[in-house]
Amino acid sequence: PGLALTDLLLRRTDACPTALALADAATGQALTFAAVRSAFLTTAVALASRAGVRPGDVVLLLAPNCVLYPVCFFAVTALGAVVTTANPLYTPREIAKQVTDSRAKFAITVSELLPKIAGLGLPTILLDGDGGTSVTLYSDLVAGAKETEYRRPQIKQCDTAALLYSSGTTGASKGVILTHRNFISAAAMVTADQDEHGEGPNVFLCFLPMFHIFGLSVITFAQMQRGNAIVAMSMPRFDMDYVMASVQRHRVTHLFCVPPVMIALAKIGRAGKYDLSSLKFIGSGAAPLGKDVMEVVARNFPDAIIAQGYGMTETCGIISLEYPEEGQPRQFGSTGSLVSGVEAKIIDIETLKCLPPNQLGEICVRGLNIMQGYFNNVQATEFTIKQGWLHTGDIGYFDEGGQLFVVDRLKELIKYKGFQIAPAELEGLLLSHPEILDAVVIPFPDAEAGEVPIAYVVRSPVSSLTEVDVQKFIEKQVASYKRLRRVTFVDSVPKSAAGKILRRELIAQVRSSKL
Ligand code: ATP
Ligand code: MG
Repeated sequence: PGLALTDLLLRRTDACPTALALADAATGQALTFAAVRSAFLTTAVALASRAGVRPGDVVLLLAPNCVLYPVCFFAVTALGAVVTTANPLYTPREIAKQVTDSRAKFAITVSELLPKIAGLGLPTILLDGDGGTSVTLYSDLVAGAKETEYRRPQIKQCDTAALLYSSGTTGASKGVILTHRNFISAAAMVTADQDEHGEGPNVFLCFLPMFHIFGLSVITFAQMQRGNAIVAMSMPRFDMDYVMASVQRHRVTHLFCVPPVMIALAKIGRAGKYDLSSLKFIGSGAAPLGKDVMEVVARNFPDAIIAQGYGMTETCGIISLEYPEEGQPRQFGSTGSLVSGVEAKIIDIETLKCLPPNQLGEICVRGLNIMQGYFNNVQATEFTIKQGWLHTGDIGYFDEGGQLFVVDRLKELIKYKGFQIAPAELEGLLLSHPEILDAVVIPFPDAEAGEVPIAYVVRSPVSSLTEVDVQKFIEKQVASYKRLRRVTFVDSVPKSAAGKILRRELIAQVRSSKL
């Protein structure tokens, strides 16, 4: 493996300088590998000589997906400095918290998001717009900078390349320390057994946010390293039409999705007015997805391979991936097998003993992709990494064939008397109902049982389903303690930018009886 994150790109550029590397879904702007190399080296030179970025400095990157996003990421890390990426949907307070926690000294952003960081006093580079007195325009910064002046500092593989904040799905989000080696290893792991599925250049649509590990590491870095093209697409609000129009326009071959998108692909049927025939692969990750949804998507897109993967910020995005073979019978539901270089064990939650196949326990993993720890949080690090094993907080099992099934998060299990109920299982079943567009299951306090499962369900507009219909539909398929004690119809299910159900928010709303 190379030493620095940017080696991913430099090696590929040597091999195929004129191939398309990055395109912008909105503007159509396109960069070859050679152009990306030139852009990031120029940016690095300018950041060092004009903005004063030094090795070890932390730079906040707060921007929607665009071609300059990976360019700036490469540039900062090429200086031995550290990127911390933030969610553009964060409030100024949330961003301020991350800036303080990560000790960011500089910011790179776009004019639309500038007000969110205006009060923080960070020297700021604006990727667009016409600047102002307090900020430096990117185009001014790099004007006249010469890539030949780039001097590579000493970068060790174990140096920090990025501080990525976990999604905060289960609590306060934590700064995950990822090194150059973590990114390089993860990119190799994602693509090691990747089948290119036929001839021709592959085009990966990246509408998943690049601030999140999935869009950043698994899609952008891993695929660029492989020589595939990335179409960077910004989608503040989920818009299926925009996704499909972009697939058609850029002849996208690989679509990496999250469950809400898979649900939409299942519910809308075949694309209708769009030509999606270029699609060879549709993958899902970031949250549990029921096998019924996978099956329907597979039926809607018979020419594409439908697969799942599993990873987390703490593993630089990757743990397992499915590698279905064309023409082979499929059994949906697993997240595939461990990528090469990742080891895993399933441990009993109480005794911490290793469990054999088909037994449910906590998934623990190790490999070169595992984070160094949480930034400024020794306690959380010690709780999560024990004797070199990362405790994922997810429960799952391996089958005899080595396929990993991720059932749910330990923290999200509903505790009914002595039993545990995985919300993801009930959600998967609900979504298999043709008249149900979306669903979320949460615990509801119960004096006698501790907690019972209740559901919030989005019906299709023409549906006349009743609460009792939905309850009966589930009751037929599960043990009686898992039956839904209440079903409420709602217009939508709250989800994060990375496609995760915002269960905590919903639980809080229910507890304060707003729902
Ligand atoms: P936080 O740790 O801050 O609460 P988060 O865990 O949602 O947030 P991420 O690192 O973005 O932050 O997400 C990783 C988690 O996503 C995994 O631990 C797992 O629970 C879930 N996940 C990812 N892929 C899958 C999958 N294919 N099936 C089920 N769950 C998945
Ligand atoms: Mg997590």
